[in-house]
Amino acid sequence: MVVVMQERAAEDQIQHVIATLVEKGFDVHRSTGQMRTVLGAVGGKRDFDKRLLEVMGGVQEVLRITEPYKLASRTFRPEPTVVSMGDFRIGGDEVIVMAGPCSAETEEQVEAAAAAVARAGAKVFRGGAFKPRSSPYSFQGLGEAGLQMMRTACDRHKLKLVSEVMDVSQIELVDRYADMLQVGARNMQNFTLLRELGRTRKPVLLKRGISATIEEWLLSAEYILSGGNPDVVLCERGIRTFESYTRNTLDISAVPVIHKLSHLPIVADPSHGTGRRDKVAPMARAAVAAGADGLIIEVHPDPDRALSDGAQSVFPDQFERLMAELRIIAPAIGRSICVEPVPHRAWA
Ligand code: PEP
Ligand code: MN
Repeated sequence: MVVVMQERAAEDQIQHVIATLVEKGFDVHRSTGQMRTVLGAVGGKRDFDKRLLEVMGGVQEVLRITEPYKLASRTFRPEPTVVSMGDFRIGGDEVIVMAGPCSAETEEQVEAAAAAVARAGAKVFRGGAFKPRSSPYSFQGLGEAGLQMMRTACDRHKLKLVSEVMDVSQIELVDRYADMLQVGARNMQNFTLLRELGRTRKPVLLKRGISATIEEWLLSAEYILSGGNPDVVLCERGIRTFESYTRNTLDISAVPVIHKLSHLPIVADPSHGTGRRDKVAPMARAAVAAGADGLIIEVHPDPDRALSDGAQSVFPDQFERLMAELRIIAPAIGRSICVEPVPHRAWA
């Protein structure tokens, strides 16, 4: 339930509504905007009579929202959430690009990838140290050694680091090295993990589950938000459909749908979304044109020898070309991308 207070509501009226909600068993989350206060009430009895609140002083409107998620909804928080990471923001005017290999493999590979993506204008380095592989015989990641390599390279190239945490037991370790914690598609409904991430203070990149509806995805975000962590960034990474040409079907329509339903920023992952290197740039361009707040792209210095996801990893020069294209597309829809000038390199 959402209680919208009147513009001129007095503080004691707001406090009275809060006290009533708490007495009725609701958890109250207060959001004070420039114009008015909005109270999100979570929990309480389903048969609560909202007219009790409607007749109170200072109350403008009480909405029983039909969406099962509340804190993640636009109704609760009309202004977009902006997640700050160092000196940049995800969900603001700038389109933020995260890039790097699927997995950390060697020091040389991590260093080469970090140098390349930083030069091209990426702000965040991506790389897995714990890999959720479909087969237990596939490369599972380097664990802490991989995190160390990535941290060193990120510090050298002034990049932030996003890395996956697969299990509650890995949170403390990954948190020590990474600036943002990634929840993989296969873990989108690992509710124990989501609850624990609600208690951390690091931004969380929440990937959409392979077969998850947008509502289920937002409910997963709700777990993190209701645990007390407001910094959730959603990531559309493709869903399973009947189409088999591409690895997944990148649901670009999820970008404007999420922007309508939720205040959370959303980035797109055209690498896992297509599974094919040659389809990454067109889908990245499309996602930015559709209003994505960022991208996460797999880039490998030698993709043909990658230990995971080589076929969908682009070469550094392809990534650089894509970034140049995005610098043309983003302003066309009122966004910017990597405003600092990037040293010129000829491709052709
Ligand atoms: C990844 O980012 O490398 C990854 C495993 O992604 P997803 O969880 O979307 O499959
Ligand atoms: Mn991958």
